[in-house]
Amino acid sequence: PARLLHGQKALVTGANSGIGKATAIALGRAGADVVVNYVAGREAAEEVAAEIASFGVRSAAYEGDVSQEDQVVAMTDRMVKEFGTVDILVANAGLQRDASFTEMTLAQWQKVIDVNLTGQFLCAREAAKEFRRRGVVPEVSRSAGKIICMSSVHQVIPWAGHVNYASSKGGVQMMMQTLAQELAPEKIRVNAVAPGAIKTPINRSAWETPEAQKDLLRLIPYDRVGEPDDIARAVVALASDLMDYVVGTTLYVDGGMTLFPGFATGG
Ligand code: NAD
Repeated sequence: PARLLHGQKALVTGANSGIGKATAIALGRAGADVVVNYVAGREAAEEVAAEIASFGVRSAAYEGDVSQEDQVVAMTDRMVKEFGTVDILVANAGLQRDASFTEMTLAQWQKVIDVNLTGQFLCAREAAKEFRRRGVVPEVSRSAGKIICMSSVHQVIPWAGHVNYASSKGGVQMMMQTLAQELAPEKIRVNAVAPGAIKTPINRSAWETPEAQKDLLRLIPYDRVGEPDDIARAVVALASDLMDYVVGTTLYVDGGMTLFPGFATGG
């Protein structure tokens, strides 16, 4: 439905690429004003903001590293000053630093935990403070605010060669559930979206060649690789009042990747 999020203000981290970009655009199309966070690539971020503004809503690109406390605090404060408040946080920024276990450096481990897990902690904390300050505004939304954590099927599927990434997403799952439990009495809804394999720059090697794509499809019962917009639509739905009673849930958007497809022909 058009303008599902009319009057709401959304902050999307890592929104100049991939899933974050598609999500920021979809939120704007649904009527929200959108802050497009980026850490590198200002031009791409400005382009996303311009596309969103073309829908007749407000948008701006804000630079900020989600793993740096001072930058997250400054970004949230700036959004409250310039946009009035924050109603929706999509904690999306994330990265991979892959290595086999014994080859993995502490720097690779730490970087992924810092951005994927600590970054979501910091953004969620600052957003929750603003949700609490503002409270529920019934004309805008039934809840005081929504936090959507971008997780992954790897919050439950172990992933050899990616222990830092899988650990960060496993952490996101428990962080999300704990925040949901702690904040629900204040009418703050915390949920996660767990994408399967989505075509973005983060995993280009997994879908770029026909052979890689064929291998990947063996893991996906629905028999297609996901697109960023598959995730964006799920985020819009979860952020809207259609989902007002959904609290502390992970919505898997994965074409069935979490259904143990190897067992479809086994046993
Ligand atoms: P992407 O590389 O296209 O986008 C990631 C974004 O995060 C980029 O804009 C990047 O600049 C930003 N970012 C990285 N470090 C940052 C920091 N310190 N501060 C702010 N922004 C930062 O990849 P994507 O696939 O769109 O990934 C988005 C999210 O989706 C990630 O959390 C990723 O783990 C998750 N995810 C992706 C897939 C997939 O198949 N693509 C699957 C499951 C989960």
